[in-house]
Amino acid sequence: MHTTQRILSGYQRRRVIVCILLAALVGLLTLAAKYFSELRLNEQRVDQFNQRAVLTVESLLAPFEQLYKDTLPLISLSCENAQQTLREFTAKVPTIRSISLVKNGVLYCSSVFGTSQFIVRDLQPQMPSPEPRLLLGVDHLINKGSSILLSWHPISASPNDGIVQVINLGMLTAFMQHAEGSWITRTILNISGSHFEYTQGLVNDVDMLGNEIRHDTPSQNYPFSITTVGPSPSSLAIDNLPSHLPLAAVISLLAGVFAWFMTAKRMSFSHEIKMGLASREFEVYFQPLIHSDNQQCIGIELLLRWDNPRHGSISPDVFIPLAEQQNLIIPLTCYVLRETVGALDQFPKMDEFHISINVAACHFKDNIIIKDLRRYWFPAHPQQQLVLELTEREALPIVDHHVVRELHHLNIKLAIDDFGSGQSSLAYLETLRPDILKIDKSYIGAIGTDAVNSKVTDIIIALGHRLDIELIAEGVETAAQAAFLRQQDVKLLQGFFFARPMPLKHFPAWLEMHNRHLSSQ
Ligand code: C2E
Ligand code: CA
Ligand code: CA
Repeated sequence: MHTTQRILSGYQRRRVIVCILLAALVGLLTLAAKYFSELRLNEQRVDQFNQRAVLTVESLLAPFEQLYKDTLPLISLSCENAQQTLREFTAKVPTIRSISLVKNGVLYCSSVFGTSQFIVRDLQPQMPSPEPRLLLGVDHLINKGSSILLSWHPISASPNDGIVQVINLGMLTAFMQHAEGSWITRTILNISGSHFEYTQGLVNDVDMLGNEIRHDTPSQNYPFSITTVGPSPSSLAIDNLPSHLPLAAVISLLAGVFAWFMTAKRMSFSHEIKMGLASREFEVYFQPLIHSDNQQCIGIELLLRWDNPRHGSISPDVFIPLAEQQNLIIPLTCYVLRETVGALDQFPKMDEFHISINVAACHFKDNIIIKDLRRYWFPAHPQQQLVLELTEREALPIVDHHVVRELHHLNIKLAIDDFGSGQSSLAYLETLRPDILKIDKSYIGAIGTDAVNSKVTDIIIALGHRLDIELIAEGVETAAQAAFLRQQDVKLLQGFFFARPMPLKHFPAWLEMHNRHLSSQ
């Protein structure tokens, strides 16, 4: 059986767990969102850098096309006549180191050396060639050992004749030093299987460290590509995650607080009661009231039972006080009223047949009980006697006496439940003028013992008789108790000795069996 505290702390614990899980989830999602956006950003940065690098190299190579066209007519001239123009052309384009004319595979005229006699193939094995070429190489003539970019343009009619442009690779690739940011560590220009890396010169291969990745972007207009090497975008994004931790912590805290407020209603016992009412988890039980003289059943008390699918059976001693705390006792009493009205046909149609329901004192405020009875009870025109048992001892002082008078006027009886226990004061007998006193089971249990309570039982019984208030003894468990009470002229008895509470739908069968049993005696 559940205790009130255990159920409440269970709800609290579950609510705390849900809020913590949600906060953690939101924190993780925030970090994941940050990670993916950073990852995309890193990929975009590398891609944009590469695109820009390709465009830069293309724009730097573009003037050489025009220069080639301008130089072409010079090939038919002698070096003395061509040399001056070659020098002027070279001066015009800052990135060019020299322009040379080639005839029959021999470099015969250079803007630097003037008339020369270099076998081109000795200088560069891949030249001359029938197609234009762009080659990375090492300067053997002017700035010896430095890396250069060679551009070979053959004259279409004779592939051994053409123009060689030597391009200043350092200037061409100066942009590479702007590859800032931790996402790119190296930039490489790839031409015809050779690789040039700024500050490193010609390198054999693009080799990488373990966590590095490469990104290649080819030019659409020239035979080169740009390769960048850097840490993988994912490892960069992971490295950057700690900087987002404060934000994630704040967002997850906010989510946790938000969840705490949002679950206040949903993850509470009151929500559980509301769900229980909506899905009819509550069942109304009855316990018979027995006449002490003839053992006839002359009434019933209706008691709620809750078979909760999540917590199992919950005792009314647990859920009734909680329902009172959460302002849900009125809907529960109305539920009992409706169920009782629905079963009226099963009860003996006698004026004196008691139908007792337990009502909380708050139901007496603002005429609510009268309104509810007008809504559920009176429209059914019941013949039987309705008794309202006031359960909440501490709340008796707040009961509105006008409502009590109105109830009397409507022929509804008022019983004080558990009389003698707790704080019920004799003063209420005067102000509430109850029709019935239900002697608390602790006094009935004391009958026949030496306990002080046994004397109090006698006093309560005497009091009832003197004030002409009906008495019901509850918690009668033995034949001796029943005999004593009959002897004391207590007319109505209730207790396990006669019957335990049973589902209301079993009442007709029980009554029939009870009456058969009486007539057979
Ligand atoms: P109560 O109104 O005093 O109801 C009598 C309680 O005594 C019932 O417990 C009943 O099962 C138990 N009882 C009956 N005969 C004996 C007996 O011979 N020996 C012993 N030891 N117990 C006996 P139950 O059904 O567990 O209800 C407990 C309390 O919960 C009720 O006490 C009442 O205060 C409250 N309750 C139950 N149903 C309702 C309801 O529909 N509305 C309200 N407001 N309170 C209810
Ligand atoms: Ca009662
Ligand atoms: Ca009682």
